[in-house]
This record gives sequence, C-alpha cells and structure tokens, in this order.
Amino acid sequence: MNPHENAGIDALPPLRESLAAHGLLARKAFGQHFLLDLNITRKIARLAEIAPGDRVIEVGPGPGGLTRALVEAGARVTAIEKDPRFAPLLQDLADAAPPGALSVVLGDALQAHEAELSRGEPAHVVSNLPYNVGTPLLIKWLTGPWRPASLTLMFQKEVAQRIAAHAGDDAYGRLTVIAQATSHAASVMDVPARAFTPPPKVDSAVVRLTPRADRPSETRLDALQKVTAAAFGQRRKMLRASLKPLCAEQVIEAAGLNPQARAETVDVAGFLRLADAWLAAR
Ligand code: SAM
Repeated sequence: MNPHENAGIDALPPLRESLAAHGLLARKAFGQHFLLDLNITRKIARLAEIAPGDRVIEVGPGPGGLTRALVEAGARVTAIEKDPRFAPLLQDLADAAPPGALSVVLGDALQAHEAELSRGEPAHVVSNLPYNVGTPLLIKWLTGPWRPASLTLMFQKEVAQRIAAHAGDDAYGRLTVIAQATSHAASVMDVPARAFTPPPKVDSAVVRLTPRADRPSETRLDALQKVTAAAFGQRRKMLRASLKPLCAEQVIEAAGLNPQARAETVDVAGFLRLADAWLAAR
C-alpha cells in the first residue's frame, strides 16, 4: 500500500477541530506551540528522509500534526508526551493509524530510555521540540550512550544558528563544537513564528543532524566539554587566559593552537586537538 493513501489518518478531523473537540488550549509551561498545517509537518517528515518501516521517536507530539505526517510516511512511531491532556486525542490518532504504526508513551523525554522507546532497534528522532528542553535533549542524544540514526529537530532560530555555525561566526560556540564533533549538522528549513499556534516570540528552524561514524569516545567528549566550557566561558579572552584554570600554555601549543587566539576562531578540529592535548598532559 502506498503509505500516503492511509484512509484512517485521512479520515481524522483537521487538527484545529481535534483540539477544540478535546477542549485543549496550549500551555506555556510545556512550551506548547503547535504546527497545525499538515503541509509544514509533511515537509519536515520529508526533510527527515523517513522511509516506510523506519522507526521514529517523536518527542512532544501534542495534537499530533507531525505525528500524522510521520505515520503517513510509513514510519513506526513511538511518541513521548509529557502533558497527559493529549492522551485521548493521541489515542484517536493511534486507533486510526495502521496497526503498530503509533504507540504513545506519557512521560518526560529528559528521563526516557530511548533504547526502550525504540525497542532496541535503530531509530530516528523527529520533533518540534519544546524550547525549554531542546538543548539538554540534543546534548543527551549527541553525547549519551544511545545513538540515534538521525535527528531532525525544530529549534528556535538562534539555537539552530549556533548548532550549524562556523568558526568566526557570532553564533559559533560550545554547542557548535559539541554538535559538529559528534555529527554532521545543517539548518534545513526556516519556520516563521506565525506558522505556530500560538505563535512564539521568535522564529524557528529545523536542524538535521547525522551522527558521525567516528564520534569521539566518552573520555574525549568529556574533555571536549571541559575545554570548550572554559574557552567559551570567557570567549573574548585569549585562550591562554581563559584556559589558565585548566591547563598551561604548553598544552595549547601542543594542540597546534596559538595561546593568543580567541575561542571563537578555533575550529572544531582544533578543539578536539586541545581536548587530546589536555588529556595527554593530565
Ligand atoms: N509536535 C507538536 C506540534 O508540532 O504541533 C507539539 C510541539 S510543542 C512545541 C512541544 C510539545 O512537547 C508539547 O506537546 C509539550 O507538551 C511537549 N513536551 C514538553 N516538555 C516535554 C518533555 N520533557 N517530554 C516530552 N514532551 C514534552
């Protein structure tokens, strides 16, 4: 069957009607800004390159606009939602979806075990993330023990720019280095604030990250977190000053870096060499 011809999902009422039927209004505390236009959610599913049968973890399905698009694309989705008010609406969606296409888990994605959610299979993460937990979730997926097949995530635009920045850019920082040392990252779609209900104060962007096969080991990542925290903690200072509490100037030189350089000019490879030199000098 063509996954786009799923009469069950197509027969569901529009998202706005589903929300009204269940008496649901967005709650600020849960970072709720909904995508109710299926053209946008279908585009996100396409950008995620989801193929029929792929396993997908979706964080924060809310009213289920992105969930519908993922199910239409033929994904087997496990959606984890913190706000229990959405349970009945998501159950309607699961009932309309093909058998096994959607399971809904009520819980906090920050505490979740992704390997359990994906039933031990490789899985992609696709999410219109709640802004307040977006960065900690990203760090968890990039540096934690569970490794996603890919991540396609909506962030506020400023965070998306930080993830995909280059050395020398204003947006270049710690998050850039951690994201790009562990994955190939690109900002793939801008989404204006007016596309959401209710609209947030800022524009958003979808970022796609594919983990690197040569992801640094846990020890190297730990060292990378330490040196980037020190270097970007005082980003206008020279490395020899910002890194003083952590290491001697010789360590910076051993990494092939100029101790007079500023953090924002050091590329990702340079920070990895610095992490290695710091580990070697301990
Ligand atoms: N995916 C929906 C959409 O695109 O319309 C909703 C996106 S809304 C920006 C974020 C969703 O994440 C909300 O449904 C919210 O309740 C949920 N959420 C917030 N914090 C969460 C957490 N820690 N774990 C799981 N879901 C969370």
